[in-house]
Amino acid sequence: MRVLITAGPTWEFIDKVRYIGSPSTGRMGFAVAEVFAAAGHTANIVLGPTQLQPPAGVHVIRVTSAIEMHQAVMELLDSADVVVMTAAVSDYRPAARFEGKKKRTGVKWLLELVENPDILKEIGSKKGDRILVGFAVESEDPRRGALDKLHRKNLDFIVLNGPAAFASDVVSVEIIDRGERVTPMPNVTKHDVARRLLEVVEALDGERRRASGEGKR
Ligand code: C5P
Repeated sequence: MRVLITAGPTWEFIDKVRYIGSPSTGRMGFAVAEVFAAAGHTANIVLGPTQLQPPAGVHVIRVTSAIEMHQAVMELLDSADVVVMTAAVSDYRPAARFEGKKKRTGVKWLLELVENPDILKEIGSKKGDRILVGFAVESEDPRRGALDKLHRKNLDFIVLNGPAAFASDVVSVEIIDRGERVTPMPNVTKHDVARRLLEVVEALDGERRRASGEGKR
């Protein structure tokens, strides 16, 4: 299978030197890429700004903003059988970027933000027979928020994470499928989550191929 992964944060610059971003490091996406590549699949990562080194043997496209991530993902979509979106995409960007570095003026600065494209939702709307996996970080009523995203974005699986997942290697997640079956994975590593995702994705792909009479890919 050919798997397309998004990873890391996006940075939305408000002036020459400051941005809106998140503490995401890309680690979850790297684990997914490593595990799928080790199982013989092809992995492409569209990676937001991070200090961490992506795994060897994986094709990496580096981007900064959500707009750039959107463009890179759309260019690679036709060649993807599986899409795993681990990136913490900023939902908003400044309506305009201040030219140069904004100086203190003694009065407040009201920043206008506009919505970024929802990359995963757009892929969900033109899903074809791709397998789609999303991640959700929810602070209130997490299970409900994750189920809502699973259906609204037309996903096959969603991984529900707590906010503590950022930058940490030990996480507690739930993997939820379209039938709303929940697999809890308390206190596991991001590689454990990636291995479980490989299992469920391969199983779903196998099921679909058997149903359509095609062989393994
Ligand atoms: O931000 P949210 O919790 O809605 O993210 C859910 C999923 O959608 C994640 O997999 C994330 O990578 C993806 N997403 C996206 N484009 C956005 C926001 C989120 O692809 N603008």
